[in-house]
Amino acid sequence: MSENGSDSFGHNESSATSSIDTGKQRIRWHELPPVRPLTLPTLAQVLNTIKIAVAVLLSLITRRPWTLGLPTMLMVEPTTACQLKCPHCPTGRGDLSRPDGRMPLENFRALYDSLNPAPIRLQLWNQGEPLVHPEIHGIIRHATTAGSRVVLSTNVEALANQRTAEAIVRSGLHTLILSLDGASAESHVKYRVGGKWDRVERGVRNVAEAKAGLGLKYPVLQWQFLLFKHNLHERDEAMKLAKEWGADEIVFKTVQLESFEREDGEQWLPDDERLRRYVLKDNKWVLKRVERPFCARIYGSAVVLWDGTVVPCCFDKDGDFVLGNAIENGFTDVWKSSEYRMFRQRILTEERPEMCSNCTEGLHKLYAVKKGL
Ligand code: SF4
Repeated sequence: MSENGSDSFGHNESSATSSIDTGKQRIRWHELPPVRPLTLPTLAQVLNTIKIAVAVLLSLITRRPWTLGLPTMLMVEPTTACQLKCPHCPTGRGDLSRPDGRMPLENFRALYDSLNPAPIRLQLWNQGEPLVHPEIHGIIRHATTAGSRVVLSTNVEALANQRTAEAIVRSGLHTLILSLDGASAESHVKYRVGGKWDRVERGVRNVAEAKAGLGLKYPVLQWQFLLFKHNLHERDEAMKLAKEWGADEIVFKTVQLESFEREDGEQWLPDDERLRRYVLKDNKWVLKRVERPFCARIYGSAVVLWDGTVVPCCFDKDGDFVLGNAIENGFTDVWKSSEYRMFRQRILTEERPEMCSNCTEGLHKLYAVKKGL
């Protein structure tokens, strides 16, 4: 069922291991006492959320961007490295145009300690697989202790290592998203190219067993199933497996395309129009949504890339809209900077960049459906 010792994926960056040598002492993450995540926001976080709501309202009414408070949701990219080669992912395809790297734990701490209050929700992923970051357990612990609900999305491969799974469960993570797109080896590897079905089964079972062994309610184990043409028939089987392996819930999510060409979409998208977020228009795939939705996201959330670069949202995969650097300039200064204000103004009243045409803001048809198990 489980295996001990470090993993080997045969890629450049070392996989997340159960311990790291800090130069002073070796931390054995899988043996540290479990941290319990906060489930209710603090008063300061509630007040900050009200400020964000006011900023959104004022911006909507005045057509001028208002900046109040700090993000209630932050996405931080731990690393751009990954073991897999998923075809719709810039990292998987190897065509991310910015440099690869990973955020050192000390930089993450500096970033987080500058946020007062801490975001209610921290999402630890972007491009790359977070669990190949050797200090990911320390990152989660730091953010949880600061009062954030930490959510991490993984391709599950690294959790086949029992110690990694145990360290993740002890870290204080609130939700672990398990990206598994099928209920068979054949379906899974069609998109998760390079993945191993037996490893992901072992990975899910490892975290479920570690949770049960420690008597912990968290992390919530959420199986995320992307709806492709080739795996639709396995939805019922995936629900059965998710329950059998120990997941808590399953989310069926529509696929995001990287190319809007007719043939690319036809290769991957379900024929059933209700199970995709795009429609075909003039031989191109376009999102089913209102023409120009108000973008509330940029008033209450932000993305910090591995090197500290702040970008407005996760749709800016290549870091085309740099708003500052959270490590060099301090996040709060970047958040209130004229660059950020100009970007918000552009999104509010001017012509929007290309990335906005693939954004889920304003999507009024099926996007994701959650089911309990
Ligand atoms: S892609 Fe554009 S509309 Fe969507 S969240 Fe980013 S800035 Fe807002």
